[in-house]
Amino acid sequence: MDLEDSREIETTEWEGGWLQVKVPLPFSLRWVNSYVLPEPDGYTVIDPGLRTEEAIAAWESVMERRRISFHDIRRIVLTHQHPDHYGLAGYFQQRSGAPVYMTREAFAYTQRLWGEEGASSEELSALFRKHGMPGELADAIDRDFASFYKRVTPHPEVTFIEAGERMKFGGLEWELIGAGGHALGQVLFYSREKEVILCGDQVMPRITPNVGVVPGEDDDPLSTFLDSLSELGRLRVKLAFPGHRDPFAGFAERTEELRLHHERRLADMLEQLTQPRTGFELCELHFGERLRSNPHNLRFAMAETLAHLYYLERRGRAERALSGGGDMISYRKSGE
Ligand SMILES: [Zn+2]
Repeated sequence: MDLEDSREIETTEWEGGWLQVKVPLPFSLRWVNSYVLPEPDGYTVIDPGLRTEEAIAAWESVMERRRISFHDIRRIVLTHQHPDHYGLAGYFQQRSGAPVYMTREAFAYTQRLWGEEGASSEELSALFRKHGMPGELADAIDRDFASFYKRVTPHPEVTFIEAGERMKFGGLEWELIGAGGHALGQVLFYSREKEVILCGDQVMPRITPNVGVVPGEDDDPLSTFLDSLSELGRLRVKLAFPGHRDPFAGFAERTEELRLHHERRLADMLEQLTQPRTGFELCELHFGERLRSNPHNLRFAMAETLAHLYYLERRGRAERALSGGGDMISYRKSGE
């Protein structure tokens, strides 16, 4: 996206004067939603976006049009730590002086992955190699990952929030609901009174959130994610404000569709494991070989494939077999 496009950045105004700002992203997702909620004395900003020149130019243009200055920002609230949501938090804090709220687990992730020593994805790429990914592709993933350091810094000073707490902003009281599986420590903000939810990347219309293995974190993220979907599906929601795509109705139905999507994928995978295959072979069967030229998407696809394999393994439906000289892991359907 060039500067010309980003100057015409799309915004949509919702009830209560809430502003949905489509902050540009240099990936196939195209944009991340930031929400700007009016306060009596300024604004609350949810998930400001990835730190890129284009995103900053887009924000400056939106703020100029809306006559909002950085000093009007009273707080910055993050649903989770992924760079496309978190990246601009420190920059916004520097310009506004506003507190940044996120969970302790989410912030710890940013420090582990993009902390003082720079980006660190070696554990992840080593895991991918063990599951059959060719070395040059794992190296490309490391290089891509390192390029995010400048897109998530400066890191903010964080005020920690926690699932189970309540917060007031945008004229509403919000219940903080923990929602793992996509991102460890993600919280969603639910207003029981208005029946609206700021649902981060947990539930989105038309696209399925990435559920992937991250070394040293949840070792069964898919199970965590599916449990979270059942919990969320019981909420009364009139309108959901997601991190990508547009606000949508039919929240409970969408949680069910997502659950079915994963059930189908698990079943397909088991079919393919009637012969032993590595995680990487399965990844290519599901997501296609074209991802070899896109390390960013390949990382998500591989981490997601492993999340499914771990899920099957934990339930005794698939088992590991060592191959390739003993240090490469492959899987087969149990009992085959
Ligand atoms: Zn995310």
